[in-house]
Amino acid sequence: SLKIECLDVGKSYAGDGVTTNAVQHINLSFSKGEFTSIVGPSGSGKSTLLSLIGTLDSPTSGKILYDGEEIVKKNKKAISDFRFEHIGFIFQQFHLLPTLTALENVLSPLFARKVPYNKIERAKEVLEQVGLSDKENSLPSQLSGGQQQRIAIARAIVHKPDWLLADEPTGNLDTETGERIFDLIQELNQQEGCGVFFVTHDPKLAVKANRMITMKDGMVLSDKKGEFA
Ligand code: ADP
Ligand code: ADP
Repeated sequence: SLKIECLDVGKSYAGDGVTTNAVQHINLSFSKGEFTSIVGPSGSGKSTLLSLIGTLDSPTSGKILYDGEEIVKKNKKAISDFRFEHIGFIFQQFHLLPTLTALENVLSPLFARKVPYNKIERAKEVLEQVGLSDKENSLPSQLSGGQQQRIAIARAIVHKPDWLLADEPTGNLDTETGERIFDLIQELNQQEGCGVFFVTHDPKLAVKANRMITMKDGMVLSDKKGEFA
């Protein structure tokens, strides 16, 4: 999809007598190819916004349109097909499958899918893009944290998504490794043309994006474009 629009999006959680407005009144629009960071303190709604944008969760008010279509109103299969076609995810925890090799982990999203390209060739291509061709037969436990995150990134882009959603991908890495992961994602954004959402609580990384959205208490505090990169 070429465009994502959030129209007065809100998500609240009902607890024992208390309702948490995790995000509210979000009005934002994103174009494919944009590199956006989402920054703000813990609890400000970053993860919630990202999972809404990623169709992992549905808003309790407002709506999100992908090229004009409200995907989360569709059936489960249509939503998961949409995700496979358009979205890749990476997280703070790498979530690699421990018994599979690096190459098998990268291949795993393609296992049950029909695609118009050679799966193994594609997996090797993305392993090369993340600089780990020589590790294709390694198990996750044999790799460093930074290498494991690179494998997770390769897995997230193997199906050629339009959007890469990253939730604190550097949260488990030391500063230098984190910066290198950021730079890799920026490179992939430029090479592959996929839009990136990069959630972080680290302002130093956030300002390196082309667009920086700052969240506070579930709302957008500022949305600055163009003056960073
Ligand atoms: P961030 O990613 O900025 O740390 P989150 O989106 O995780 O913020 O959380 C925003 C607010 O919503 C917090 O107050 C959090 O406790 C609450 N929240 C998030 N997920 C849930 C949930 N599944 N159930 C209840 N409250 C939640
Ligand atoms: P992150 O490190 O990405 O900010 P969190 O630690 O805020 O993630 O949340 C991790 C998971 O726990 C998320 O799926 C979030 O929705 C859920 N969660 C966060 N806060 C709450 C809460 N108060 N009650 C229930 N679930 C929550």
